[in-house]
Amino acid sequence: MTVSAAEQEKTGLGNYFIANYPQFSFWSSSYLPDAERAVNSPPRPGVPLGLYLHIPFCRKRCKFCYFRVYTDKNASDISVYLNAITKEVELLSKTGCVGGRPLDYVYFGGGTPSYLSASQLDGLMSRLRAIMPWDSAREVTFECEPGTLQKHKLETLRTHGITRLSLGVENFKPEILQYNGRAHSEDEIYRAFGWARELGFPQINIDLIAGMVGEDWDNWKRCVAKLLELQPDCVTIYQMELPYNTEFSKALRVKDGAARTSLDLIQPAEGTVSPAGNVADWPTKRAWTKYAFDELVKNGYEVSSATTVVKSKANTKFVYREALWRGADMFGTGVASFGHVNGVHMQNLDTWEAYVGKLEAGELPLGRAFPTTERDRLIREVVLLLKTGHLDVDYFRGKYGVDIRTEFREPLAKLDREGWLKVTGEGVDCTPEGLIQIDRHLPAFFDPQYLSSRYT
Ligand code: SF4
Repeated sequence: MTVSAAEQEKTGLGNYFIANYPQFSFWSSSYLPDAERAVNSPPRPGVPLGLYLHIPFCRKRCKFCYFRVYTDKNASDISVYLNAITKEVELLSKTGCVGGRPLDYVYFGGGTPSYLSASQLDGLMSRLRAIMPWDSAREVTFECEPGTLQKHKLETLRTHGITRLSLGVENFKPEILQYNGRAHSEDEIYRAFGWARELGFPQINIDLIAGMVGEDWDNWKRCVAKLLELQPDCVTIYQMELPYNTEFSKALRVKDGAARTSLDLIQPAEGTVSPAGNVADWPTKRAWTKYAFDELVKNGYEVSSATTVVKSKANTKFVYREALWRGADMFGTGVASFGHVNGVHMQNLDTWEAYVGKLEAGELPLGRAFPTTERDRLIREVVLLLKTGHLDVDYFRGKYGVDIRTEFREPLAKLDREGWLKVTGEGVDCTPEGLIQIDRHLPAFFDPQYLSSRYT
């Protein structure tokens, strides 16, 4: 089937955001012996170690969410899970790949880490820090849903050394928040942000989504104005996707009953009540993102990647992202969590029962893995670092012994010709237009065997 350029610009089902390489569909349980070898081998010199903790609980499920989350767990289930994840950190802390390294960065993601009560958080963090202290870590990030925060919960986080608070605001308009299934209200955003500032968290990030169902230009401009009033240190703007298995994806039917592919046109199902009745296409979402970036830059912010704008590039670092994109090691703990150790990608078992069961038996809950080659790691860094808008030729020469200008001559020439980037002397720089849509151009760097695969 030939798909027109216009059809490709519509928001279809599937992922477009590139989070890793090679893609998850190539990872397999048959590589688990490689993962076990990797965690039991000494670390490569100079590679930092991070810890990711997946807290998979949410008040309700957002209609666009495709993460492994639970909305029906009670206090005793949560206690079982927190015991399991603590056990996992304990098992990992004793593996050979730690090699005496202190944690360089920690990330509490979800789900909704702030769904946990202050006393659950206090108990969890006290136990974790006794096993793997993070006092010398450069960054400890904690994701929050504004409606779950109270001042004393934020005080607990501050006491435990959280340096970067990330608020999932997504939009300011109550009707849009509600239609898209978000649990928080607009008032809760201001309340949470005020407390966070008062308590002096070193860095506060706000997430927005360009293209939530019901979005329009007027409201998007209001959202950006409200964002500017708050003056967060960092702003992350995602462009709405409709991956498979979200509530929206199930509720929307494909025009003419065609097979569900990422290129099909999606229409609201009959009887569906939507504020705008449709999902914005990619050019509109890019225009909204560009508008927000431009407004923020006009107000003194700097673009630091395809999705983030910061108050000051020199002072507002995002260590987790930088480390991960440069191939750092990271223990991915929690159900279905992703990690990377000694060149091997790994993911935990993705059901509650299997995950908890393994840890109760005293074993690591690994589910699938992928051992990367030196070339895979080179390509992974090229595609992930391109999201910062810049590649440094010398960095790759020093680390991989290759000149990326010759190694990737064809894709670079193609993207240069099309106006998405420029090869300039010792660097590669995305054009502003290229950066805002860089994810869809990254497969140009993939080796042929990793092309044309569903991205899960
Ligand atoms: S808060 Fe985040 S993790 Fe939870 S349902 Fe919504 S999008 Fe998913």
